[in-house]
Amino acid sequence: MTLSSADAPGPNLDIGSKGKLDGISSVTALGALRPFLTPHRFSLLRNVLVSLFRDSSTTDNMVAMSETVRVRYAPSPTGEPHLGNIRSALFNWLYARAMGGTFIVRIEDTDRTRLVEGAQDSILDALRWLNLDWDEGPEVGGAFGPYVQSERQAQGIYQEHTDWLIAEGRAYYCYCHPDRLDTMRKAQQVAGISPGYDRRCRDLSDDDRQRSSEVNRKPVVRFKMPLEGDILVNDVVRGEVKFDSALLDDFVILKSDSFPTYHLANVVDDHLMGITHVMRAEEWLPSAPRHIKLYEA
Ligand code: GLU
Repeated sequence: MTLSSADAPGPNLDIGSKGKLDGISSVTALGALRPFLTPHRFSLLRNVLVSLFRDSSTTDNMVAMSETVRVRYAPSPTGEPHLGNIRSALFNWLYARAMGGTFIVRIEDTDRTRLVEGAQDSILDALRWLNLDWDEGPEVGGAFGPYVQSERQAQGIYQEHTDWLIAEGRAYYCYCHPDRLDTMRKAQQVAGISPGYDRRCRDLSDDDRQRSSEVNRKPVVRFKMPLEGDILVNDVVRGEVKFDSALLDDFVILKSDSFPTYHLANVVDDHLMGITHVMRAEEWLPSAPRHIKLYEA
């Protein structure tokens, strides 16, 4: 895809099935934007938005948290980029450019079952078409690379952090068979209690652990969440959001194929890459208490 022709047709922006963008159907939003969004017009709009970002009081609050802004756009290559992805990319890019910060692209491809061939190229093509240049990431490199999570996995980065969490007593091997988890979930549904892992493997004795590991040689690793108390998330848009720990289970951080889950890889990389602000879709807000506990660990 070249950027030379201002009116070149854009890459395929899939809208996905999730549907809503600030109360507007994203299908409607994309339909309305398609004729408008030529790269040239997008550049003009972008410049206006950069100056608005510079003047906004929200931005002032955000920047007070840190001096050097480093933000990231972290798409998963599970399909064509949709309007929601582009919106996240745009907000991160705008903030980086308005604050003289760094805009990073990181490809989150740890869910191997959902990978779509060619999706990574489409993601990068979409950014190029919109003229959203990135300072660190695939193709351009940077001091915190690699910027593709499967390459980081191959380097043992997530395994190392998982081993450390286990050694610190903050995570544990779970040997439960998927059939057992399935039966447990169904029983929870019937009983009307909130679904989640029942922590059977959390406090196994050494003997039990030894016995279980002989039966299931491919355990997953789960993170120990607090059993009670509130977890507070400071969200710039929503303010302080409170989550009850009792409703959050010990989630999986490393799968049996030794790939990390989104939660672990995302937090480890945000930490190692020095990310100062996270701007992403609202659907990720329920994951924030888990991430906060991982950061604290
Ligand atoms: N890989 C996640 C996604 O594609 C990123 C979410 C985040 O920015 O933390 O939605």
